[in-house]
Amino acid sequence: MPEVKGIPVAPGLAFGRVHIVRSRPDSVPLWTVPGEAVQGEIDRLGAALDAVRDQLGRQQEIVRRTTGEQDAAIFAVHRAILEDPTAVAQVERRLREERVNAEWAVQALIDSLHKQMSGLDGDSVRRYAEDVSEPWVLVRDQLLDRDAEQVSAGQGKVVLAAAELTPQVVTFLERERVLAILTEAGGRFSHGAVLARSFGIPCVVGLPNLLARLEQDMQVLVDGDVGLVTLRPGVETVDEFLERQQQRRARKLALDAVSGEPAVTPDGHAMAIQVNLESIRDLGTFPVQTCDGVGLLRTEFLYMERSQFPSEEDQYRLYRRVVDHMEGRPVVVRVLDIGGDKQLPYFQMPAENNPALGWRGIRVTLEWQDLLRVQLRAALRASAHGEVRLLVPMVGSLEQVRRVREVLESVRSQLVEQGYEVADRVLLGIMIEVPSAVVVLPDLLELVDFVSVGTNDLVQYLLAVDRDNAFVSGLYDPHHPAVVRVLQQIATACAAAGVPCSVCGELAGDPAAALSLLGMGYASVSAAPNFLPELRFVVRNTTLAEAQQLAQDLQRARTSREVHMRLAAERRRLHRAVGVEGV
Ligand code: PEP
Ligand code: MG
Repeated sequence: MPEVKGIPVAPGLAFGRVHIVRSRPDSVPLWTVPGEAVQGEIDRLGAALDAVRDQLGRQQEIVRRTTGEQDAAIFAVHRAILEDPTAVAQVERRLREERVNAEWAVQALIDSLHKQMSGLDGDSVRRYAEDVSEPWVLVRDQLLDRDAEQVSAGQGKVVLAAAELTPQVVTFLERERVLAILTEAGGRFSHGAVLARSFGIPCVVGLPNLLARLEQDMQVLVDGDVGLVTLRPGVETVDEFLERQQQRRARKLALDAVSGEPAVTPDGHAMAIQVNLESIRDLGTFPVQTCDGVGLLRTEFLYMERSQFPSEEDQYRLYRRVVDHMEGRPVVVRVLDIGGDKQLPYFQMPAENNPALGWRGIRVTLEWQDLLRVQLRAALRASAHGEVRLLVPMVGSLEQVRRVREVLESVRSQLVEQGYEVADRVLLGIMIEVPSAVVVLPDLLELVDFVSVGTNDLVQYLLAVDRDNAFVSGLYDPHHPAVVRVLQQIATACAAAGVPCSVCGELAGDPAAALSLLGMGYASVSAAPNFLPELRFVVRNTTLAEAQQLAQDLQRARTSREVHMRLAAERRRLHRAVGVEGV
């Protein structure tokens, strides 16, 4: 019963038969065209271009209506690529001069686009090459008369398996027929992955050689929570899996029923449960009363979903939408955090030997201050309509915070001079991700209004373990005693300075860990939308004294195992409280 481990992109469980999507033809035929037939090939090319432009227009409209303007924009970009007269002329020239068939000439263009990009480094550049050639692939397939997606070829509900997840493939899925999506290529941030997540379809990517191991209609189990795919599972495994699925449903119902209740402990201590947002689409995935605001708006994803830097006006509109949607709840806008694995297709960053330790987050935006200024202008303008707070990523020193404050004040004065309305006070916070920030925290706290701990990065920098490196993933341990103690150190320093602190890394989504944070003195946690009901539930079922006891026990732990065992005991207590397994 082989298992394949990939990157979990969208959570959820699924069991079903596989439908393999062969989204690329294996070969493109080549033939020589007689002189008198050349015009016929040019006409075929023109007809295919027209058909694909029409198809993209229709797709754009469907997506605009179902998921919004922003997702639909990619189709407009693809249409614009096909309008480019230079590329069309290049293909026509090849038809005339080389007297080849149209599909071959289009394939030659696709190859040359890839070649131009292959000299450059970086996954995002390769993805950009894919994006630029994607509409031409549609033209080629139109000429070959192939159904590029072939999704509709399957019958009934299926687990879709593909080499890669293009936005086209995801957008045109009949959602109710797709149990899960598996792909060989891709990362958490690819277009297709972003869409799958927003559609709520369990999805695992980064499964090299998967297709070679699958057969059409083979049965598989997909665990989108941890990124595990089991091929041809045995009866017992399937039974266990179905039971888990059943428990999940029961638990979801139980939790949903109380998810609008305030997150207050039985002895009256409130902990704000906030939401992490990666996209505007996430807004539709949870009832607004199940959260106490947005604790982390990862703005780089808003940038990543575009083909160029969003203008001040674009950003203002996006932040306004979030602020309006949250109906008076605070919205923490994180300043652009690019670099490392988060690259923008239109912003060429230098190749670095050690990107996690390189040009990232505030290190980039303090150098490219025009980016920072545009973003701060948009966020400050949105602050006139609701509570916007600003959060600075990757801070390691006082100087960085002072410089951001200077830029913020200058942007504010400029806006006021220009007659814009801006909130009187916009809180400025920092992310605690870099160990040096923990060491100088008492001094930093004199300069900021709040802090939010980014445990995803803090763990990698504290333990010197790359968060994206599979070779050391066993060493990436958020429950290492060093992490537990540093988290307490941060909460204690914040309490002494009277500065509220929160945690917005993945750790905050773990209910038992969130309770330990409550016991340490954290005022809030912020997690992805699907964790909100559970987090509210556990706070409502734990006294502050119990949470403090948990925190103290963890402080005494000397090994990760001791931390894990104490958290497991806490989970067992929570299981008993909710009455169904699985919290
Ligand atoms: C973190 O580092 O914990 C965090 C929330 O930021 P990101 O995961 O976006 O780096
Ligand atoms: Mg981070």
